[in-house]
Amino acid sequence: YETLTVGELAEKLHREPAEIVKKLFMLGVMATINQELDQDAIELICADYGVEVEEEVRIDATDLENYFEGSEDEEMLAKIAEGNVERPPVVTIMGHVDHGKTTLLDSIRNTKVTQGEAGGITQHIGAYQIEENGKKITFLDTPGHEAFTTMRARGAKVTDLTILVVAADDGVMPQTVEAISHAKAAEVPIIVAVNKMDKPTANPDRVMQELTEHGLVSEDWGGDTIFVPISALKGDGIDQLLEMVLLVSEVGELKANPDILGRGTVIEAELDRGKGAVATLLVQNGTLHVGDPIVVGNTYGRVRAMINDLGRRVKSAGPSTPVEITGLNGVPQAGDRFVVFEDEKKARQIGEARASEALLEQRGETQRITLDNLFEQM
Ligand code: GDP
Ligand code: MG
Repeated sequence: YETLTVGELAEKLHREPAEIVKKLFMLGVMATINQELDQDAIELICADYGVEVEEEVRIDATDLENYFEGSEDEEMLAKIAEGNVERPPVVTIMGHVDHGKTTLLDSIRNTKVTQGEAGGITQHIGAYQIEENGKKITFLDTPGHEAFTTMRARGAKVTDLTILVVAADDGVMPQTVEAISHAKAAEVPIIVAVNKMDKPTANPDRVMQELTEHGLVSEDWGGDTIFVPISALKGDGIDQLLEMVLLVSEVGELKANPDILGRGTVIEAELDRGKGAVATLLVQNGTLHVGDPIVVGNTYGRVRAMINDLGRRVKSAGPSTPVEITGLNGVPQAGDRFVVFEDEKKARQIGEARASEALLEQRGETQRITLDNLFEQM
């Protein structure tokens, strides 16, 4: 059973601890603020405050976002911030179909990841990491639009920066405009890669002109948007592009604390016949370790094996690192949060509570979760 101290219960109920102590006294229980209350005592107090209070307790206990943000505890928040260090930027590539997104992703990966490192096998895990001038950059290679729409719809922010690819021989097209509005809504900075510069019909001025109409004004024209002419096909301009990515990232002061329990977002997940549920996770804060008890969306488990973007087995993964893991009891969804817990029991309890809530929701049944069955699950 879950236990709470008087102080913790007071906080969950948004009451003064003294009020709780008084109520307990009336009920014949002598208690101090740091005293642990058993389930009966908690129930007595909650019953006294009514149904809404039960709802409050339930949400606190199972909302992954609480643990993700570290907001379950102010002390925790302060501790997290104290240990913050620089982390690599997480970048997505967006743009109109056929403007060269896939070619650019491949080109960056091929020029920056040596064959030896990859062991000759190109592992696809939906994201990869490269190094430019000694600094790491993480690329999500899920389709940019999808990453934005599904993940943003679910409230998850994973991207620090987006590269907008516009073919110089085609100019601004409908999905270009769409990409701009996604990035703006998510308040993610945009770098424009003017692609296919190797083509004789390339007209970068036209791209600049057309983007001006969408609020992206080049630095050359007095604006603050960085434009980099590239040829994804030939590999021209890739280094300049990556340098600009690092430059813009520095302004964003991206930080995370590698010393806390891992937490982040699911990039993609599927059921593998041999391995079971396989999920690509982006660690956004803390460090994820093999063996960690973890809740991922409405699933849970222990991280059984972890492989990186080069297909290598790794034991741990720090902030901004994408890894593929196995060991979950089900297949989570892209955009789901994951959080590591100190003990396996708590991960299981929260995972099971979340799964049954999701099931109820799916069935369209009204959620009638009382403290009783909450504590049965805890
Ligand atoms: P996506 O739909 O945005 O992923 O576009 P792709 O990467 O699949 O590219 C569409 C087509 O444009 C392919 O035939 C590529 O070979 C070609 N392409 C991409 N980048 C360049 C480039 O820099 N120069 C030229 N000439 N062709 C390119
Ligand atoms: Mg493509």
